[in-house]
Amino acid sequence: MTTTIIGFPRLGEFRELKFTTEKYFRHEISEADLLAAAKDLRAKHWNIVKEKGITEIPSNDFSHYDNVLDAAFLVNVIPQSVQKLDLTDLERYFALARGYQGEKGDVRALPMKKWFNTNYHYIVPKFEKDTQVKLAGHKIFDEFVEAKEFGILTRPVVVGPFTLLQLSDFEEGVASKDFVDSLVAAYQEVFAKLAELGAKKIQLDEPSLVKDLSTDEKALFLDLYKKLLADKKGLQVLLQTYFGDVRDIYQELTELPVDALGLDFVEGKKTLELVKSGFPADKTLYAGIVNGKNIWRNNYEKSLAVLEQVPAENLVLSTSCSLLHVPFTTANEEFEEAILEHFAFAVEKLDELRDLEAIRQGEDDLLAANKALFAKKRVGQNEELAQRLAGLTEKDYTRLPAFAEREEIQRQALKLPLLPTTTIGSFPQTKEVRAKRLAFRKGELSQEDYDKFLAEQIDDWIKWQEEVGFDVLVHGEFERNDMVEYFGQNLSGYLFSKNGWVQSYGMRGVKPPIIWGDVTRLSPITVKWSSYAQSRTDKPVKGMLTGPVTILNWSFPREDISIKDSTLQIALAIKDEVLDLEAAGVKIIQIDEAALREKLPLRRSDWYEDYLDWAIPAFRLVHSTVAPDTQIHTHMCYSEFTDIIPAIDNMDADVISFEASRSNLVILDELKAKNFQTEVGPGVYDIHSPRVPAEGEIDHTIEAILAKVPSNKVWINPDCGLKTRGIKETKESLVRLVQAAKAARKEL
Ligand code: GLN
Ligand code: ZN
Repeated sequence: MTTTIIGFPRLGEFRELKFTTEKYFRHEISEADLLAAAKDLRAKHWNIVKEKGITEIPSNDFSHYDNVLDAAFLVNVIPQSVQKLDLTDLERYFALARGYQGEKGDVRALPMKKWFNTNYHYIVPKFEKDTQVKLAGHKIFDEFVEAKEFGILTRPVVVGPFTLLQLSDFEEGVASKDFVDSLVAAYQEVFAKLAELGAKKIQLDEPSLVKDLSTDEKALFLDLYKKLLADKKGLQVLLQTYFGDVRDIYQELTELPVDALGLDFVEGKKTLELVKSGFPADKTLYAGIVNGKNIWRNNYEKSLAVLEQVPAENLVLSTSCSLLHVPFTTANEEFEEAILEHFAFAVEKLDELRDLEAIRQGEDDLLAANKALFAKKRVGQNEELAQRLAGLTEKDYTRLPAFAEREEIQRQALKLPLLPTTTIGSFPQTKEVRAKRLAFRKGELSQEDYDKFLAEQIDDWIKWQEEVGFDVLVHGEFERNDMVEYFGQNLSGYLFSKNGWVQSYGMRGVKPPIIWGDVTRLSPITVKWSSYAQSRTDKPVKGMLTGPVTILNWSFPREDISIKDSTLQIALAIKDEVLDLEAAGVKIIQIDEAALREKLPLRRSDWYEDYLDWAIPAFRLVHSTVAPDTQIHTHMCYSEFTDIIPAIDNMDADVISFEASRSNLVILDELKAKNFQTEVGPGVYDIHSPRVPAEGEIDHTIEAILAKVPSNKVWINPDCGLKTRGIKETKESLVRLVQAAKAARKEL
């Protein structure tokens, strides 16, 4: 028996890759410097995995930005607009990821979407009429050779052709089927080249197989793989799936001439049932049994009980998905042992795989120790909270009066112009802002001085927003490190790691807090700065909160109670905050649900029952008891809710803003078709790129919005918060935004 992982975190133990890449973006180091640093990091990671005793080690799981973009690059799926720019390979790669604005041209970044049900985001490749699919990249080969030179024979990993097609956009006039043959040829060339370099195996990641598959999608997959596997060029092929089970296509997979199948036993509700129905003797089963998404120790007894039922003769123990989704190691954390012993990050999960293997070989004391850990009573129950939750009735989830009536009341009360302008909350978190926060946290800056600094920031930006002519202002969120951690720090039941970063998009990481016990609000969280900001202006200032579903989705959840129960606990805490803000005179409150879609089950049939039926009411619980003239906003990142529009309307917010600029506003047609009631602020420019919208660009976008949404329902705002942006580009972009809104208003 052997052990393996699907992939390893890329950013590094201390996010080295992020810092180096950012230096490169700022032109402080050369391309060669960046490539050398990345090489060192890969060597370090391979060595760790090897030293932990993992027997099969992947390569090409590393990425300079994103693994879907890597696959697109490998097979030359590069839009003409970027193809024709006179750039180096790496510059071209980053141009697709982040846009390019410079001497050599001006192109926008490709859209970015959530990677299945995670908080990782991939770059959406675009197949055009002119796309010539062919082998064009060399990263997968270079990294294989690199590892080989270290004495490690790796199993190269690449996103498979089916998932690549499923996740891509297509220019009008072309579709997936047009690229089947050229993709097969390109992947076969990859096989051949790897075989020539000495590789024995390849891992093709096909997570799209865990979704509901239509007849056409199944046919596409089978067409691709029958052709592809007709000539494996001497390689063994591992078809790897994760994030769920493959119930729609299991039978066909077992009949394919692949050498191994990778299945997820953690998130795949039906995986065990499927393999129990039969697993072919000529294939190896890669069993994803160690959770690649959560930070808790593996319960060995439970895992072994699952493995015992697996009929496969050739078994490789693996993780449920890539370890990309968990932090690097617990070794740099400072929790006391009684806490730490319950956690396993990426490095520790390697130990777990090896332990599980050892126990299967008879090392019983490892099992006994793990049993003892799980027998401990970790946390007690908060009785008062349990009673408050038990006492909730339908009324607590219903805001009155109904939206139409509130909309009129708020119009009278707020007296905003048509197309009101606002931002999503945060302003640039400059070096100075972060340095002050750090100094304060370290005790080098007094509370008084820190408060003074924050007040000055708020004063400056309030004044600036007034001057530029914004209608609804924000305080700028300078006091917050992160939209979840900031709240978690003021809630009981939360723990914070020092270094528990997980990659979110590009080089950006997030540090999800850990829900350790029952959650309650310890004291008011945002009232101080929101009411201060409001006191500095006659214009309305939006209060800024993170919603319960997002707090839950961006935390590592408990595994001993349901995520629904944890979410309701958080909802009550945020509800108390909403009411305190209202009492302090804040008339508009935005409750961000940036991550609402994150835990939406991948299969439609599970959407409502497993998720939306409690997640949407949890949001309503937060704002149900505010006065009719208090305006509740919400914000969601990505406009990927076309298919859950009725659920979004059911959140019963008064205004919703969302990312739209990278996705061509397609969602607006759907909003219209579904008779969406909530007022909308589709983002009018992309904040994930440093690019400043060109003169007239925002005007154009507003025009497109007004063609689809009644003008009295439209708000004008950027796509998302601005904390990751520089001040200069932010101000330039926002001035254009307000000017464009004013011009459009005049037209109306
Ligand atoms: N209010 C938050 C901000 O502006 C929203 C962030 C987000 O949607 N991710 O930073
Ligand atoms: Zn956002």
